[in-house]
Amino acid sequence: MANHPYNNKRAGYWLSSHEPQLQPRAKLNEDIHADIAIVGAGFTGLWTAWYLKKHAPQLSIAVLEAEVAGFGASGRNGGWLMGSMEGVDSLVEGLSPSQRQDVHTLCYGIIDEVRAFTLEQDLDCDLQQGGAIYAAARYPEQLESMQELLAYFRSCGYDESAYHWLSKDELAKQLRIKNGYGGIYTPHVAAINPAKLVRGLAVAVEQQGVVLYEHSAVTGFDQSTGLLKTVDGSVRADRVVLATEGFNQWLTMPRRYVLPIQSQILVTEPLTDALWDEIGLDRRQVFADGGRQSIYGQKTADKRLVFGARASYLYGGQVRYEYDLSDPSFNFHKDMLLTLFPMLSGSGLSCGWGGTLGVPRKFRPHAIFDPGSGIAMAGGYGGEGVGASNLIARTLVDLILERQTGLSNMPWAHRMAPGKALRRWEPEPFRWLTAKLVTQFFAWEEQLLSNPQAAGWKKRMIRKTTGQLARIVHLH
Ligand SMILES: Cc1cc2nc3c(=O)[nH]c(=O)nc-3n(C[C@H](O)[C@H](O)[C@H](O)COP(=O)(O)OP(=O)(O)OC[C@H]3O[C@@H](n4cnc5c(N)ncnc54)[C@H](O)[C@@H]3O)c2cc1C
Repeated sequence: MANHPYNNKRAGYWLSSHEPQLQPRAKLNEDIHADIAIVGAGFTGLWTAWYLKKHAPQLSIAVLEAEVAGFGASGRNGGWLMGSMEGVDSLVEGLSPSQRQDVHTLCYGIIDEVRAFTLEQDLDCDLQQGGAIYAAARYPEQLESMQELLAYFRSCGYDESAYHWLSKDELAKQLRIKNGYGGIYTPHVAAINPAKLVRGLAVAVEQQGVVLYEHSAVTGFDQSTGLLKTVDGSVRADRVVLATEGFNQWLTMPRRYVLPIQSQILVTEPLTDALWDEIGLDRRQVFADGGRQSIYGQKTADKRLVFGARASYLYGGQVRYEYDLSDPSFNFHKDMLLTLFPMLSGSGLSCGWGGTLGVPRKFRPHAIFDPGSGIAMAGGYGGEGVGASNLIARTLVDLILERQTGLSNMPWAHRMAPGKALRRWEPEPFRWLTAKLVTQFFAWEEQLLSNPQAAGWKKRMIRKTTGQLARIVHLH
């Protein structure tokens, strides 16, 4: 991967359309020393560099990226900038109601923090905070699932202003989706073009004096000396930040704790205003369907529909970054797009791509710094890291610089070795078998629930069994 000439098409729609002529930065080709070395130039690595330099400008910081900044999940996601973190509600279970409220406020504030950065940097990343709609659509059981989800949000202390119910008519005013029964709305999500944000962030950290090496995969890490090796050079650093999330092929240590999961996404050609009048999403609200196939989308600033779904695990935790729209694995996405939006039957698709997200064993995000070894690790977003990476990076920087802002006391902050803070994933073949089992049950459930002819008892049984299975592996 790292020694191939850079091929922009492999990076997906956002990056290839934003920078069609992208030229990688220089690679590391000497042996250097840095106060802090960061492995991975996605949102986590770059936000960490940004806040480190902001609070400690004297530090020398080198970022090593295997491909180009944003090549990983950060440049190829669905563009939901969320004021929340997957897994945070289980992390704060033991806190008092007012402490939980403080955590919620911190999470909502992520969008303001990112917006302030873009204004300060004069960086246009098509950010629009239209909120998110979780639509009960296609089959009636989704209505029940969304009502259960809202009840769960209430039990976690989220009030009406954070998540509120949309009746069938209220949903239809915002989104015309097949069998829209109702749904949940939250204002705490913005739509962005993630490539514009991550590439702009890379430029911003360079302007601060951070040195960013591209095409510089770290192939070896000696934890006792802080020595990172690439094919053509090395960095010896006092502190090393591992920010590779799921897109990690070479370093074995993070892979024990963060599982790489593949997910795919496609984008239409720009749609006419008449079609958008039929669909809705006037404020560029992002949307998800209330089933278990992780169906989600956004209206882009140039009037396309980005549409993603499904997740899969490859044996041994392989990372895949090349996809083609003609690949049969996109058939589900194409069918589902037309099922939900039949008005798009005459519209063209311009591109399909995929990427790797990271899932930690405890399904919770983490910011870890071990002062003894100088090793830091951050991530574990479970597919929701566009916004979370900003809050996690701020937490990590407070841990590293020993800043007292309260973030380092949050339940996702750990001052210890990564191996103590995180739980290991089970070895193969258990991971693969479990992933296969879960995916198969999700597919059976989808098949039965979307079939109006299927017997009611079968639907109830598959829903119950799949729900229990998902709970056992902590998927919902
Ligand atoms: C298809 C898809 C859709 C998604 N949609 C959303 C969404 O809408 N909203 C949301 O919040 N989240 C979404 N996510 C998740 C989100 O994109 C990630 O959580 C987030 O981008 C993680 O950022 P990161 O910097 O931690 O990791 P990454 O962006 O993956 O960055 C890791 C970087 O490390 C580099 N790297 C790896 N190993 C090495 C090495 N040995 N040496 C040097 N460099 C290395 C990689 O090349 C990569 O650039 C989605 C993910 C996918 C795949």
